[in-house]
Amino acid sequence: MDEFDNNSLWDAVLAELQVSLSPANFQTWFRGKTWISTLSNTEVEINCSSPYNKAWIEQRYLEQIREIVERLTGRPQNLLFSVSSRLVTKPSHKASPTESVPLFTEEPLDTLKASLQSANINEKYSFSNFLVGQCNQLAYAVAKAVGEDDQRRYNPLLIYGGVGVGKTHLLQALAQSVLVRRANLKVLYSSSETFTNDMVEAIQKKQTIDFRSKYRKADLLLIDDIQFIAGRESTQEEFFHTFNHLYERGKQIILACDRDPSELASLQERLKSRFVGGMVAKIDTPDQELKEAILLAKSKEMGMDLDFNLIRDIAASMGSSIRELVGALLKVTAAASLTGKSPDRELAKSVLTLERSVKPTPGKILRAVADHFSIPTETISSNSRGKAVVLPRQISMYLLRHHLNLSFYEIARLLGGKDHSTVIYSVARVENLVENGGEVRSLVDEIERAFKT
Ligand code: ADP
Ligand code: MG
Repeated sequence: MDEFDNNSLWDAVLAELQVSLSPANFQTWFRGKTWISTLSNTEVEINCSSPYNKAWIEQRYLEQIREIVERLTGRPQNLLFSVSSRLVTKPSHKASPTESVPLFTEEPLDTLKASLQSANINEKYSFSNFLVGQCNQLAYAVAKAVGEDDQRRYNPLLIYGGVGVGKTHLLQALAQSVLVRRANLKVLYSSSETFTNDMVEAIQKKQTIDFRSKYRKADLLLIDDIQFIAGRESTQEEFFHTFNHLYERGKQIILACDRDPSELASLQERLKSRFVGGMVAKIDTPDQELKEAILLAKSKEMGMDLDFNLIRDIAASMGSSIRELVGALLKVTAAASLTGKSPDRELAKSVLTLERSVKPTPGKILRAVADHFSIPTETISSNSRGKAVVLPRQISMYLLRHHLNLSFYEIARLLGGKDHSTVIYSVARVENLVENGGEVRSLVDEIERAFKT
């Protein structure tokens, strides 16, 4: 048997794990976050940088690690996991070139801070606190590659996915990683609404030249929530030219959208084709594993030591938005600190009503809408054209989309086989009405309350 010391044994284990895990998982859970603290003939103590890291590794990788360790050392081993808050020293094995995240900036800190600020980047969103699972692996990998590489191989990069799945986080992290390397690059992050507002204001103040140069001098332009320019003709016109201007000069453009742009009914075709003309990465709704990992990470950040079963319950019963998930966690921890109770299942149940947030079925949603408008459910799902069913049907489409994330085709099929573009239009219409906060907003609120109970 080869004689290993702590470092060489762990390096060998890591080398094997690296081959069998996805790069993102390896990097998230193992690289630089684990090491062997004690090694005896019968016992290996593996130190993890945080409780969530420990819980995660124990839950998912224990047997795999045991198998490798026992094979390498040639004897049965008792594996222990511990947490140490000491700074993790970088393990001696080399990082592959694609994963060379700079740990410190070569730029003076003040310059970097100023650049982040003028680019509209919030430091709290970084790659290092972005957790990676199946659903976001591609988007993460591409965003990282774009952040580290000046070749413009993925231009434009479009990241799309539902609400609260981490699009803004990725865009911001990407911009930050670029500025950390090159603080004097002109980076600009903006939402499409800010773009629109800037444009309107510039027109009013007759300062369109300033407006144009603001967006057109960027080396890296990131436009978030691009879906909001759909339907706004003059904004689309202006953005089309901004896009072309940058693209032709080899500048990098990154966009985020809350859905596949082809599903944006009122987005001009020429923009659609440009948006998807480079690299497109979709973020799917997070799976249970990732939701748990995020809850663990966030609770750790907040200094809470939550029971793993509670984490599991919250992850299982909350919807697909990570924002909501984190919001739920905040509620539980706030309630715990206000009442002095421990953050357990009991407390979580009382503030979150966990069971109630289980996903409704399409049938339940349609019934709630039908009841609310006092019409038979069949009328909504039939293809009758009566005026009285237009709004109920549109609201149904909106709810099916928002609560169950059904595709436009599925919704069309559920509701009497309408054309899917009708669905796209209807959902957008109700979205607008809900956003404007009028009568439809309260209607929708009431119906949602009904099918959630
Ligand atoms: P979106 O822009 O897609 O609506 P955000 O990027 O605003 O979503 O994400 C919502 C919240 O969830 C943010 O606080 C963000 O930091 C967090 N979040 C989303 N995805 C992840 C992830 N993979 N790892 C850690 N935090 C995440
Ligand atoms: Mg966002």
